[in-house]
Amino acid sequence: MSQPPLVDSFGRIHKNLRISVTDRCNIRCFYCMPEVVKFLPRKDVLTFEEITRLTRIFASSGIERVRLTGGEPLARRGLSDLVGMLKSIDGIREVAATTNGILLADQAGELRRAGLDRLNVSLDTLDPDRFEQITRRKGLEKVIAGIEAAQDAGFTNIRMNAVAIAGLTESDVVPLAKFARQRGLELRFIEFMPLDGDQQWDATSVMTGETIRQLIERAVGPLVTAKRKLASQPAVDYQYADGQGKVGFIDPVSAPFCSACDRVRITAEGKLRNCLFSTEEWNLLELLRGGANDGQILNAIRESIDNKKAGHGIDSKEFERPARAMYQIGG
Ligand code: SAM
Ligand code: SF4
Repeated sequence: MSQPPLVDSFGRIHKNLRISVTDRCNIRCFYCMPEVVKFLPRKDVLTFEEITRLTRIFASSGIERVRLTGGEPLARRGLSDLVGMLKSIDGIREVAATTNGILLADQAGELRRAGLDRLNVSLDTLDPDRFEQITRRKGLEKVIAGIEAAQDAGFTNIRMNAVAIAGLTESDVVPLAKFARQRGLELRFIEFMPLDGDQQWDATSVMTGETIRQLIERAVGPLVTAKRKLASQPAVDYQYADGQGKVGFIDPVSAPFCSACDRVRITAEGKLRNCLFSTEEWNLLELLRGGANDGQILNAIRESIDNKKAGHGIDSKEFERPARAMYQIGG
């Protein structure tokens, strides 16, 4: 690190960068994008070279971990090349990706060989009909094959992310918990956030982590609090009392974790966001393509960090929903 760290006005030091490599996706989860969706023209999306340059600038100020997301990151051609480019940056200790798993069986081996450190696979149900209801596409068997291929390729500590939706996925909680436990996957439930493309979210559709925990304890087994790996991690983790498996809860709505947030995000078209719920953005693509030097880009990054708010305030009357839906930000 050759530059001072990225510290905001609340003293939070930023170490994690989420990079959306595309807004495109091969499925259409209703909580993330509308059924009919217009994607960005390819020329407006950051190139791998631009992403690498930005990451190098971030790493010079203390960013250590990168997560590739989208849209569906595996839908971006040549993703493993980008992984290799990012892994070679001084100061980057981990490159991870979050995927829907549909293309994972084809790509797990090459991503592993390129040096990808960790994988999160999103899967909300093991029921093929509900999978189609949520994603508006078929493909459950591909996701399961993708998880198996990733394990065969040598990925360990694979996480399975499940968005929990009240009135829809209650009956999926226990089968998912059993599936993850049997296969050595760390399961994390994420509360449904107001970032859906159709703007249908309301507080009644949130199934809280606490409700899910009770369902699992009743049907699978008692849970005990697990040690936090990182102070800034959004999830509260539990392990089964018998020592076999872990389950975590990301509860941005019922238990916001903003006070420990160390994340910053770049959208596919190079807009810097200091929060998932940010209503302000800094246009790094314009700077990159306008010939700005690294110092000018770093100044824009610092300005964004300086302007980071204390929290998202979903539960407050003043909460303003961001104009972008999840697929346009990168979860
Ligand atoms: N396509 C990849 C995937 O689905 O894993 C990466 C991008 S996706 C936007 C990242 C994560 O955000 C996924 O785990 C997805 O389930 C979650 N997500 C999307 N919309 C959400 C919402 N409105 N509330 C909570 N989580 C959401
Ligand atoms: Fe695609 Fe992921 Fe959004 Fe689902 S959550 S539509 S898989 S980007």
